[in-house]
Amino acid sequence: MKNVVFIAPPAAGKGTHSNKLKEKYGYEHISTGDLLRNEINNKTEIGKKVKAVIDAGNLVEDDIIIKILESNLKSIAGKLFVLDGFPRNLNQAKKLTEIFKKLNIDYEVIFLLIDEQEAMKRTLGRIVCSCGKSYNIFNEDFKPKVEGICDVCNSKLVKRDDDNEESFKVRFQTFLKNNEPILEYYKKLDKLNVITVNKHSKFVFEDIEEVINGNY
Ligand SMILES: [Zn+2]
Repeated sequence: MKNVVFIAPPAAGKGTHSNKLKEKYGYEHISTGDLLRNEINNKTEIGKKVKAVIDAGNLVEDDIIIKILESNLKSIAGKLFVLDGFPRNLNQAKKLTEIFKKLNIDYEVIFLLIDEQEAMKRTLGRIVCSCGKSYNIFNEDFKPKVEGICDVCNSKLVKRDDDNEESFKVRFQTFLKNNEPILEYYKKLDKLNVITVNKHSKFVFEDIEEVINGNY
C-alpha cells in the first residue's frame, strides 16, 4: 500500500478519512501542526526557536518545518502514513519530493474535490463538543443521536465562531488560490488523484482504497 499526501479544502472530510485509514490499515497520521506543537512542548532546541517565531506573530520557515518532518519520517520508517496539512506552498512541495526521494518513500497525492456550495452547507451544519467530537446536522451519518447533545459525553453541542458564511468563503477561496500551483505540480509528476466527495462517504473511502492499492 502507498503513503498518502492528503490535500483538501475545508469541510471535504479529510479528518474523517484520515481516521479511517488509521483505524482500518494502521496508517500513522502526520500533521505538521502537531509536530511543531510537540517540539514546543518537549522544549527541544528547534521547539524553542519555533516558539519564539510564533510568539512574535511570524510564520515558521519552510526549512524548519521540513527538518522536523524529515526526522519524523525517518523515525517511523517503514510504517504507512498520511501526511495532513502539508505541503502548503510550492516550495514545500518541491522540498517534500526531495525528502521522499532521499528516504525512498512511495506515495500518492489525494485531492478531495468538493464544490463551494456543498462545503459551505457542511460547514454551516457543523456543531462541536468541548471533548473534541464534531457532528453535522445536515448529514445523517454525522448527526448526534439526541439533538444538540454529544453522543460521547452528553455535553451541549455548539457552533464554532468561525463557522459562518463570511469566514467560510474567505477560507475556501484562500485554500483554492494557495493550492492551485501545488495541484498543478503533482499533476505534472503524475502523482495527483482527484476524488470527488459529492457522494456517500463510504464511496469516497472506497476510492481512497483504490488509490492506496495503486488501482485508481
Ligand atoms: Zn462530547
